[in-house]
Amino acid sequence: MNKEILCAPNLRATLAALARESVHRGLNQGSSGNVSVRSRSGFLITPSGQDMAALTAADMVVLDMNGEVLGSGRPSSEWRFHRDIYAAYPEAEAVVHAHSPFAVAMACLRRDIPSFHYMVAMAGGTDIRCADYATFGTQALSDAVLAALQDRRACLMANHGLLAWGANLPAALALANEVEALCGQYLRACQVGEPVLLSTAEMLEVLEKFKEYRSNA
Ligand code: 13P
Ligand code: ZN
Repeated sequence: MNKEILCAPNLRATLAALARESVHRGLNQGSSGNVSVRSRSGFLITPSGQDMAALTAADMVVLDMNGEVLGSGRPSSEWRFHRDIYAAYPEAEAVVHAHSPFAVAMACLRRDIPSFHYMVAMAGGTDIRCADYATFGTQALSDAVLAALQDRRACLMANHGLLAWGANLPAALALANEVEALCGQYLRACQVGEPVLLSTAEMLEVLEKFKEYRSNA
């Protein structure tokens, strides 16, 4: 993990560093994707339509939980699903949305990621769902995403990308990265044949083991 992300002295700089890191990791490019972090007054989010690789602390936009801008700046068009995730999941402290290549490929097939690998359980369940399609930046997209996120910390978004939330910014980025890796692995396996899926019992065992694994992290 980039030291800048873990050690930045304030939230604006930390969030800007994470936005840039999402590009360095190949999760985002240009102005695609957005990231946010919970704050005392609501949340901080990346601005709309700007190059993610060039964002600085001053570019971050502060919103309250009604979506009102506190201060200045034009927030990401996707502020609704960021806000709705913070409202629905008190343990969510950070949200990462990306248009990463393998996740987009899976999302264009509108396929859930099934239990082909035990790491699917990292998102909190036996599969990772693909949310129904809705136009970017709409409340309909937020509603679709929230439905797909039930009991999960990540989902795909039909014909769009992926989304992950976490207990902090590095955790949300790590999960987004993991979902992207899983999509790549699943698509490769599908090119050769039909992947053998783990059973529900096998996945429940992994989920149980992850509780201990995560608490040691
Ligand atoms: P913003 O630049 O408005 O965050 O939009 C990028 C995006 O990914 C929309 O889904
Ligand atoms: Zn997007």
